[in-house]
Amino acid sequence: PQPAAIIGAGIAGIATAVRLAVQGHRVTVFEAQESFGGKMHQLELPGGYRFDGGPSLFTLPHLVDELFQLAGRNPHDYFRYQRLDPITQYFFADGTRLTAWADEEQFAREVEEKLRVPAAEVLRFLRRSGRAYEATAGTFLQKSLHKAGTYLSPEVLKALAALPQLGLTSTMHQRHAAAFSDPRLVQLFDRFATYNGSDPYQAPATLSMIPHLEHGLGAFYPEGGIYAIAQSLVRLAEELGVEFRYQEPVLEILTNKGAVTGVRTPKGDYEFSVVVSNMDVVPTYRRLLPRQPAPERTLGQPRSSSALIFYWGIAQRFPELGVHNIFFSQDYKREFDAIFRDKTISPDPTVYVNITAGHTPTDAPAGHENWFVMINVPHHEGQNWPELIAQTRQAVLRRVSQALGADVASLIRAEQVWDPPGIEARTSSFGGALYGSSSNNTLAAFLRHPNFSGQLAGLYFCGGSVHPGGGIPLCLLSARIVSSLIKN
Ligand code: FAD
Repeated sequence: PQPAAIIGAGIAGIATAVRLAVQGHRVTVFEAQESFGGKMHQLELPGGYRFDGGPSLFTLPHLVDELFQLAGRNPHDYFRYQRLDPITQYFFADGTRLTAWADEEQFAREVEEKLRVPAAEVLRFLRRSGRAYEATAGTFLQKSLHKAGTYLSPEVLKALAALPQLGLTSTMHQRHAAAFSDPRLVQLFDRFATYNGSDPYQAPATLSMIPHLEHGLGAFYPEGGIYAIAQSLVRLAEELGVEFRYQEPVLEILTNKGAVTGVRTPKGDYEFSVVVSNMDVVPTYRRLLPRQPAPERTLGQPRSSSALIFYWGIAQRFPELGVHNIFFSQDYKREFDAIFRDKTISPDPTVYVNITAGHTPTDAPAGHENWFVMINVPHHEGQNWPELIAQTRQAVLRRVSQALGADVASLIRAEQVWDPPGIEARTSSFGGALYGSSSNNTLAAFLRHPNFSGQLAGLYFCGGSVHPGGGIPLCLLSARIVSSLIKN
């Protein structure tokens, strides 16, 4: 095994470090920031409020367990989680409230009772979503799509054959509009396009399998919050001998005669024959490999959405709110047109509120809550963010105050904001996009950058900007693909 460098201690970089260490490599992780996690960081605000800074929804927890098991450890000694029930509280613009229970039948009965839609409609859709997931996930998410060998297995040929029926010619929204008789359910399921930063009015109906992750396989809450995922994996990596070098950004990937030879940081040059970039693929080429020809078509794919987040310490408990809460806008189409066409924020955006204090009481003082309030927004392209933030803050306060019958502005005791330029500055994600390129295009899965370089031997890529895509589970899968490519 050769010494391996990983550029970035995001969740994919940490998972790759664990896997390569288990394979016997001597692994060094270079991280530009003062600590690990990248988008999956945590923050504290005065008054005793703790927040998960980025991701809040956790699915496919076995992908985390698997890393401890690979290293011969019992996952429960490091990391625990529970299945969330209910999963989400929905507040529709017309005043209807709906609870998404973990059990599909219970959820379908709730829909029947609150929305007067036959339970069978929901169950039929969820089961179809499950079948679509089972038919394709093994292929499109778990293997490199860029190695000829991938296309030779019977499983993959089956998945490719299933693709046309799964909906390459219609959009997610069209699929949902055909499946549901009530526009509120269409909006509810359209929202899953945002799980990879896409637009339901453009993204292919294939993505209608996303709800299966949450409703079929479950949403989970890690003990101590999402940050515990990164924390427990770093502990494991350190036990396996991985060296983390913080505040040491990689400035250049060193190469010679078509192969990587090491990395350059402000502290000097280091020799490595294996280099894995967990940095967004666009700045990896632009900044770290300025003399290499870049795959322009891949790098030019439209970005996924970004986020505007208000972290609020709230001096009240709201028993009607759970961990995940959605306050839908009146006009969903207008909201996505604003993001993806006009590159701005709709004056009536859907608001997502994540509250962990109910599950982790130390996250807020007694009687208070820690609100992570997020709006989907376009990636950073030079918009006037201070102006957009000021307008949006008012719109958000109006929307949640009206739904909860409270003056939320008067309850804010602490506040911090994270916007697309801030996300870009902190994580180097191009434009502050949350999930690399968007999946608004039918062929998006094939147009993401592969997990290896076709030009430089020894160079690999993991993380949300490359195959198979963004979000915690897919980042963990990218680590699995990279380590198996290196092994072979
Ligand atoms: P990143 O987290 O992007 O980390 C990259 C790391 O590399 C950073 O630490 C950065 O400092 C470091 N780095 C960059 N350049 C260099 C360099 N030159 N040298 C050294 N270090 C460098 N996902 C979900 O699954 N569920 C959710 O609910 C969810 N919600 C989200 C909400 C928000 C607000 C955000 C921001 C993201 C959300 N996501 C969610 C997406 C998820 O967080 C990301 O897909 C995932 O965390 C990305 O991990 P990554 O490994 O690609 O790297």
